[in-house]
Amino acid sequence: STSSGQLDGFSFENVVARDSGVGKSCIVLRFVRGQFDPSSKVTIAASFLLETVALQESTTVKFEIRDIAGQERYVALTPLYYRGAVIAVVVYDITNPHSFNKARYWVKEPQKHGSPDIVLALVGNKADLQQKQEVSIEDGMNHAEKNEMFFIETSAKTTYNINQLFEEIAKRLPRAPS
Ligand code: GDP
Ligand code: MG
Repeated sequence: STSSGQLDGFSFENVVARDSGVGKSCIVLRFVRGQFDPSSKVTIAASFLLETVALQESTTVKFEIRDIAGQERYVALTPLYYRGAVIAVVVYDITNPHSFNKARYWVKEPQKHGSPDIVLALVGNKADLQQKQEVSIEDGMNHAEKNEMFFIETSAKTTYNINQLFEEIAKRLPRAPS
């Protein structure tokens, strides 16, 4: 079976802050193209990316990913047959406690605007920078557990857990009505 999903950036026009720099665009680029470019300020502006995740039992999930420059606080997964977002991915940078605090704040937004039974993922990115780690994996896990979120640490740079992130997202997607 195949279900379609849309991985999108919510836009909240009146909210401060530009690119947060936690690595959202890099995660998407690594996942879709298998690339990481440390020198460029990556934002896949207005581009439309497609990637299919194969799950067990010959189930695939097609993600439609839109990475919106400077607007996104998190990426949200919205299957086409649902009105609200059903999965939201909140990303912080493990070397940056401020980004963790912001992530904890933004978690409430998809809960308000998404579907009532939204699934939330908390992602601690830049896991390759372990020597500079300031947000412990325990802090990430504890926060995720309290808020009934799925938690994972990733590195867009080394590819660590990037596919796992999208596989876990795909597994949690509600199936298309049959
Ligand atoms: P966004 O604003 O959340 O979309 O962040 P970007 O994807 O534009 O990344 C911001 C900066 O973090 C860029 O300079 C990237 O090269 C860097 N970056 C992103 N992911 C990683 C990672 O996993 N490890 C390291 N070391 N740097 C990363
Ligand atoms: Mg970006």
